[in-house]
Amino acid sequence: MKDADVIIIGGGPGGYVCALKLAVLGKSVLLVERDRLGGTCLNRGCIPTKALLHSAGLYARMKSDAAGMGVIAESISLDTAQVNAYKQKTVDSLVRGVQGLLKARGVQVVKGEAAFVSPHEVSVTLPDGKAQRLSAPHIVIATGSRAAIPKIPGIEGRGVITSTEALDVAGLRLPGSLAVIGGGVIGVEIGSAYAGFGVEVSIVEAMPGLLPGIDGEVVAGFTLQAEKKMRIDTGAFVKEIADAEGGQKRVVYERGGEEKELRVDKVLAAVGRVADIGGLGLDKAGVITEKNHVAVDGGFRTNVEGVYCIGDANAICMLAHAASAQGMAVAGQIAGKRSGVAQGIVPACVYAEPEIAAVGLTEEQAKEEGIDYKTAKFPFRANGRSLVLGQGEGFVKILAGAKYGEVLGVHMTGPHVTELIAECALAIKLEACVEDIANTIHAHPTVSESIMEAAECWLGEGIHFI
Ligand code: NAD
Repeated sequence: MKDADVIIIGGGPGGYVCALKLAVLGKSVLLVERDRLGGTCLNRGCIPTKALLHSAGLYARMKSDAAGMGVIAESISLDTAQVNAYKQKTVDSLVRGVQGLLKARGVQVVKGEAAFVSPHEVSVTLPDGKAQRLSAPHIVIATGSRAAIPKIPGIEGRGVITSTEALDVAGLRLPGSLAVIGGGVIGVEIGSAYAGFGVEVSIVEAMPGLLPGIDGEVVAGFTLQAEKKMRIDTGAFVKEIADAEGGQKRVVYERGGEEKELRVDKVLAAVGRVADIGGLGLDKAGVITEKNHVAVDGGFRTNVEGVYCIGDANAICMLAHAASAQGMAVAGQIAGKRSGVAQGIVPACVYAEPEIAAVGLTEEQAKEEGIDYKTAKFPFRANGRSLVLGQGEGFVKILAGAKYGEVLGVHMTGPHVTELIAECALAIKLEACVEDIANTIHAHPTVSESIMEAAECWLGEGIHFI
């Protein structure tokens, strides 16, 4: 006896998208979620951080650039309670949207915590403590991730927060100074938001540069701008966090063999995330894990027939849109309909100030793979719309095969690049050549013209940049 065709554990951007797609394809779905629908992305990640960054960006621009553009505001101040309210209003509206979509598509949402009792059966602990058994021939694990807490002495102490607490700018009372441990995406985005709010931010990153994995030239260009607003220490490994006088924290780190320290009001630990799969009873189902995440094949199938794992829980690519794409693929497989989503082409965006966006091969990867490539860059300072926006910093970098000019990667930092990256992902998906981009009319004046211009520069025929 089955309760549905598919049970999905976890209602984040992986799980709820998979549920909706399955419902569209005619399958009956039970979605088990212990918390609010939308997962980390909607409730504690992508959406609230972007709301925070939007408020911070507006505040910083009003204080710095607005007067130069002829907009004089007498006294600009920050209402942190309203920053929170704006953020929460946006989140709530999206969560209600997901709820409404699931209801309209006939997906049954079960509130509770699910754990396997056998390969095709889960026990759900309901809010009243009672347990409900549910079974289905297909089960999709979409339980996401949680903040990793490394073994740094003092990291569990008072005054050390994770990105979740950092989102509550009112409850936290904006500190005067913040040390961010980890210069990955979370550290850079939250650091950027807090710097925008006027907090003195110091990022301490163990690797030689910020944002490991992003194209080195783009990181260098971004860092140059970011350093105007934040202190950035790279190649610096945090060893200890301790209490200091006046309720402050002392962050001790090692850099170039020397011990250094920072005195700050608060410390943000942003040192990565790990799959949230504890308590799922995976052993009862016989699902194999490796390095603390669920092991899957190219079709997101676990070793157990009918059991799949998508999103952060399989740790292939910890990005919300990758989780959704995997959810679509699994829904297609279960419904017997092939998904055409190109799983290998995943854009990556950092919504800091300035923004970063990338897709495809980095120059470092192309070198490592021995690919014969050529790159070209076009700076935003030569783009009219960027100058109108007062954001002429940064550039577009195109990497393409030296012989045929097939687009292999696009990497950018600058205004609105997180919106421009879709065109570049499509170019790679369509196996477009640089010439195709150069020969596509881009509206003027737009920031997007910079992609066309970079393509022209790649061909050695650039007009607006020498
Ligand atoms: P991350 O792995 O991207 O970065 C963590 C950084 O911490 C690394 O650069 C690491 O070198 C550094 N680090 C670790 N220990 C350290 C120490 N003792 N001292 C100094 N530095 C140390 O992790 P994250 O930034 O926490 O993000 C987690 C996940 O969430 C990532 O997979 C990320 O892609 C995802 N995410 C994505 C977005 C986005 O797409 N815009 C936003 C937020 C989070």
